Amino acid sequence: MSESSKANVCEPDNPARLKTTHQAVTETDVFRSYKITHTNCPLLKADSSNGSRNARNQRCDYAKPTGFPLHGFTLIELLVVISIIAVLMAILMPALGKVKEQARAVVCKARLRDIGSTFRLYMQDNNGCLPPSWAFQSELNSGKTDGDMTWFLRVKDYYDLKRSATGSVHYNLFKCPIMEDWSRKNAGDTSAAGIYGYNIFFIETGQDARNSSTDRKRMWWKNPAGIKIPSELPLIADLDTRDPLNAGLEGTSRWLMSYINPHPAAYAKGWMNGDSMSTRHDYYGPAPNHGVNCNFLMADNHVESRNVCREGEWPWLGTTFIEQMSGRAFHPTRNP
Ligand SMILES: [Zn+2]
Repeated sequence: MSESSKANVCEPDNPARLKTTHQAVTETDVFRSYKITHTNCPLLKADSSNGSRNARNQRCDYAKPTGFPLHGFTLIELLVVISIIAVLMAILMPALGKVKEQARAVVCKARLRDIGSTFRLYMQDNNGCLPPSWAFQSELNSGKTDGDMTWFLRVKDYYDLKRSATGSVHYNLFKCPIMEDWSRKNAGDTSAAGIYGYNIFFIETGQDARNSSTDRKRMWWKNPAGIKIPSELPLIADLDTRDPLNAGLEGTSRWLMSYINPHPAAYAKGWMNGDSMSTRHDYYGPAPNHGVNCNFLMADNHVESRNVCREGEWPWLGTTFIEQMSGRAFHPTRNP
């Protein structure tokens, strides 16, 4: 093979020429591509005769990538998008809020069931008696006070309760989630503020005990077998220790449920029977923490939700104020 034909085939022995050819092809291709995509650029038109590197490196305001237009959103487009998002949020937020409220009501019922379970455990350990919310005489004699022996303190050891860094017990499992949120912000997890209400008849020491300092055990109610209609007698109920009328905070340590009147929040949501609200409300009353409903743990250990904002659905209260004052409602042996 001659020298010239050898060079025409592949020229493997001339690396200097290979390098030159490669550079020339590369620059030509790039410049051709640049011209194709910038045909309207005045800089290129003015300088395309010599393909100046300087001209190619200058910014061309007319340059656009091929394929699709690229530009920012206009103000109108942005406003339309924002409006659509706002409408979607407005549609979804109430539904999400409703789901959250339903979840809280479910958690509330689960906590009441747990309390019912611990009451049963307490009864097994205490001769079948429900927990009182005051100190027995023997406990008083040993230096305890009624405040040391409330119903939730008597059953708390059946739980595995969280504790603070200093060892104080968290009482959230004794609170409706509605009140848990409130008490966390206003009193803390270790506060008893916002705890469920125990039927006041199980909290009062009773006339015998008040008159006698010798024996607080002889309470007629202590054996649940004496309850007239267990499925209709509330043991524990939702309370609301906030004050819906005065936008302030009502008592912080109640944990008892009154039998006399509904909570003022129930009035605000529809409970009206002609009496003056100022004389017919009771912050100890069962509270409509879940819409118009209050959750109850009944004496037969079942949990249910009842409307406490409509008089016809309030089966425990008497129909007259006198009947209610007589203590028929919620009374273990006199409840309807
Ligand atoms: Zn609740």
